[in-house]
Amino acid sequence: MRTIVWFRGKDLRVADHAPLVEALASGEVIPLFVLDPYFFAPERARELPHRMQFLLASLKALEANLAQLGSRLLVVPGRSAEVVPRLATEWKADQVLAHRWVEPVGRERDRRVAEALEQEGIAFRLFEGETLLPPGTVRNGQGGMFRVFTPFARACWARLDLGSALATPRSLPPLPLGLAAETRPVPSLEELGLVLNRSLQPGGEKPARARLRAFTTGPLSEYGTDRDRMDRPGTSRLSADLKFGTLSVRTVWQAVAEVEAGESGRRYLNELLWREFSHHLLWEWPELLERPFRAGFEGFPWREGEADWKAWTDGLTGYPVVDAAARQLKAEGFVHNRARMVAASFLTKHLLIDYRRGEAHYMHWLTDGDWAQNSSGWQWSAGCGCDAQPWFRIFNPVAQGLKFDPDGAYVRRWVPELASLPANLIQEPWKAPKALRDNLDYPEPIVAHALARERFLATAKGHLGRQKA
Ligand SMILES: Cc1cc2nc3c(=O)[nH]c(=O)nc-3n(C[C@H](O)[C@H](O)[C@H](O)COP(=O)(O)OP(=O)(O)OC[C@H]3O[C@@H](n4cnc5c(N)ncnc54)[C@H](O)[C@@H]3O)c2cc1C
Repeated sequence: MRTIVWFRGKDLRVADHAPLVEALASGEVIPLFVLDPYFFAPERARELPHRMQFLLASLKALEANLAQLGSRLLVVPGRSAEVVPRLATEWKADQVLAHRWVEPVGRERDRRVAEALEQEGIAFRLFEGETLLPPGTVRNGQGGMFRVFTPFARACWARLDLGSALATPRSLPPLPLGLAAETRPVPSLEELGLVLNRSLQPGGEKPARARLRAFTTGPLSEYGTDRDRMDRPGTSRLSADLKFGTLSVRTVWQAVAEVEAGESGRRYLNELLWREFSHHLLWEWPELLERPFRAGFEGFPWREGEADWKAWTDGLTGYPVVDAAARQLKAEGFVHNRARMVAASFLTKHLLIDYRRGEAHYMHWLTDGDWAQNSSGWQWSAGCGCDAQPWFRIFNPVAQGLKFDPDGAYVRRWVPELASLPANLIQEPWKAPKALRDNLDYPEPIVAHALARERFLATAKGHLGRQKA
């Protein structure tokens, strides 16, 4: 049997790769990656510079790993929905195997590919692997999707018999002879009009495994307490690996579960279940990428606030943690989870700016930018999502800084103009004596916390009240 293993941007690995293992067991294997202009046209690639950098590096690594196993990754430009059925027909493939995607864009692409392949009598099979459990299979008593995380997580725990991660094949057969195709090398960043950012994590399966090992033998033991500390390297930094599939989520789950890490281990696995929750939600309600989960938030009177938006994106709001998050985002393509929550709450509640603008801005800059995760993170923060924090809970950015960056190390790193302030002033530089303040090149707060809080509460109460009436 001749099989095309269609690698997409969420399974860039050779370990624990069900389609690859299945193809190998069936006979001839043709590894394929399609450079779809939906992502790879230069004007599109420029919208996701950090994700593209990580993806290209991971793709190069995949190419090398497949070559080492004796095969070759065929990289072909064109629209997936057209290229895959055409090549499968020309190459006389019996089947095309791939991993399922949760996002609407991937589901629509796969629907069209399935339709075209069916006409040619070629099988198209999608394997699970993006999530721990197949999306759509974790159901409540009434057979529906859970709307609250805790019972969802409980239902997952009851079903989590993941089986072992699949081993990397020892070798792969060489490509069948005579495959004609317009293959091309993996594009470089320059070809896509992008500039290398040396502060990003390196992509690829090997660095991903090293990150996993460094975490399980290091910060994992203190994860329960350190995960919220913005000033400590207390989290795994595996989000981009999970997004691009340089590690399978099952591999990460098992590596952590094998360590005797007590409450810290349980907390970590719980975070993986939050990831699971956001993917299952998007599977159930694809419209979540456009609309708030809580219908009462439809038509919310968000402000335009161009000057405030600019201050927030430039990291010049006068609130140190909010500004540190904005600058870390652009510099590293990453933001600590606590800082994401504070920054997102500030944009939507203090500044009353539409969460969808913040969501798009994060998708532009994050290396781990993921439709399901980012959308649920933003809706959670704005108070309009599934099992979101209540809309009337408004983070106080100063209190959050004092609690989760008590010495100010996180702020000092990303807002160097405040580095000279002592810990007791760094989260509230406006309280510094005038002589000190005059030497700081840092703005006054663009809104007063108490007034902004009142404004949001009054606006939300009015809007949600009208929706109910
Ligand atoms: C506004 C906002 C936007 C976000 N956007 C994204 C995004 O685009 N991509 C993304 O992967 N995560 C997103 N998150 C969730 C979270 O911030 C990141 O997953 C986390 O910071 C990644 O760092 P880590 O791998 O060191 O996390 P760890 O603490 O080491 O967690 C391990 C893994 O668990 C999952 N996880 C952790 N926290 C959460 C969470 N709160 N919700 C869902 N899953 C979680 C992630 O897959 C993460 O890699 C967002 C959160 C917020 C509040």
